[in-house]
Amino acid sequence: MKQSDLFTKTIKENPRDEKSINAQLLIRAGFIDKLGAGIYSYLPLGLMVIENIKNIVREEINKIGGQEILMPSLLPKENWEVTGRWKIKEMYKIKDENLGLGWTHEEIITPLVKKHVSTFPKYIYQIQTKFRNEPRAKSGILRGREFIMKDLYSFHESEEDLSVYYEKVKEAYFKIYERCGLKNNTFLTIASGGQFSSSFSHEFQTVTEAGEDHIYICKNCGLSFNKEIFNSKCDCGSTQFEEKKAIEVGNIFKLGDKYSKAFKMDNILMGCYGLGITRVMGAIVEVFNDDKGIIWPKEVAPFQIHLLELDADASGIYDILQKEGIKVLYDDREKSSGEKLNDCDLIGLPLRVILSKKTLEKDCVEIKRRNEDKVELIEIKRLVKFIKDEL
Ligand code: ATP
Ligand code: MG
Repeated sequence: MKQSDLFTKTIKENPRDEKSINAQLLIRAGFIDKLGAGIYSYLPLGLMVIENIKNIVREEINKIGGQEILMPSLLPKENWEVTGRWKIKEMYKIKDENLGLGWTHEEIITPLVKKHVSTFPKYIYQIQTKFRNEPRAKSGILRGREFIMKDLYSFHESEEDLSVYYEKVKEAYFKIYERCGLKNNTFLTIASGGQFSSSFSHEFQTVTEAGEDHIYICKNCGLSFNKEIFNSKCDCGSTQFEEKKAIEVGNIFKLGDKYSKAFKMDNILMGCYGLGITRVMGAIVEVFNDDKGIIWPKEVAPFQIHLLELDADASGIYDILQKEGIKVLYDDREKSSGEKLNDCDLIGLPLRVILSKKTLEKDCVEIKRRNEDKVELIEIKRLVKFIKDEL
C-alpha cells in the first residue's frame, strides 16, 4: 500500500484525554480513533492488526474442532431471565424493547445448541463485538465498553470429555499468544471461577505495568495465581513468588451444568473460553514499544516492510515486492526525511527498508529491524531473498 493513499495521518502530540500507552501510541500512529470513553474506531492499519489476530485465533481454534458462527448482539430479555442475569449492571439495556446488548453469550448458545444438536461433543465459537458498561474505561483498548472477543463454548456428555477438551483449549491459547508475540510475557494463572461457578478458572495474564490485575508467579514452575485466590503456596510446593501487574488476555472456565440445566438440556456439561481480540492488540502495544513508537511482532504487524524513499524513487522496488506478495507499506509522500523516519518508528513495522540517493549509488538499500539499532546495506538485487529469509 502506498502511504499517500492512507486516509489517516500520524499525530505528533499525545492526546490529552488518554493516559494509557496503548491508546496514546495507537491514536498517534493512526491505528485507532477515540469516539468516547472506551469507544474506538479501528482505522485501516488498526483493522489490519485486528484481522491478523482474528485469523491466528481462527486457525488455532479451528484446529481443535471449533465451528465458527455469529450470534446477534441484540438479545431478548427472556433468555437472561432464565439464568437471572438480566439484572447484571454491566449489561446495556434497551428497556423499551426488552433487549440487551451482548456482553457474553451462554444464554444464547445454550438454547441454540439444544435446538440443533443431538450428538456430542460440540465446540462452537464466534468472534464478535461485545458491549459492557465498564465503570473504569480508562485503559484505552485494554478495557473498552465496546470490544471484540472470541468466545468459544463446548458441550460434553462427561466430565472427563470436558477436561480433555479444556486442556486442548489451554494449548491452543498458548499457541495464539505465542504467534501474537506474547509468549514470554503471558502466564497461565489460577483465578476464581467467577460469580457463577464454584471451582477455579484459568486466566492468561500478560505482564505489563498497564495491567489492572495482580498476579503471583511461582519462581519454581512458572504457574501463576491471581491475587484474589492467592494463598502463598504453589501446587509444586514452592513458596517463592514474584508479584507482577498483568492484564487478563484470556479466561477459560468449566461451567459444568449451570447453563445446560437452566435451559433444560439434560446431562450436558459446558466449558466457555473467552479471548479479548482488541485487548490482545492493546497488550501487544503495552509490551512492545519504546520512546519512538510501537514495535509490532511479525505475525500481527499490518505490513512486514516499511519502504521509505528519501530523495530517490523507490517505486520500482515497491512493484517488485508487491509482485512477490510481500506486505509492504511504501512511504511515497512528499515529506522530509526526518518526518518519514519518525513516522516509520511510530508505526512500528518489523523491517525498515530505505532507498536514498546515497544507497542507490551503491545499488543498495538500507535495512533496519524495528527492534534493533543496527543498520545494514543490502544489494537491491538481493532484497527479495533477504526479506523472504527474514519472514
Ligand atoms: P476483566 O476482569 O478484565 O474485566 P472479565 O473477567 O470481565 O475481564 P471475561 O468475561 O472473562 O472478562 O471476558 C473474556 C475476555 O474478554 C477477557 O479475558 C478479556 O481478554 C476480554 N475482555 C473482557 N472485558 C473486556 C473489555 N472491557 N475490553 C476489552 N477486552 C475485554
Ligand atoms: Mg475474566
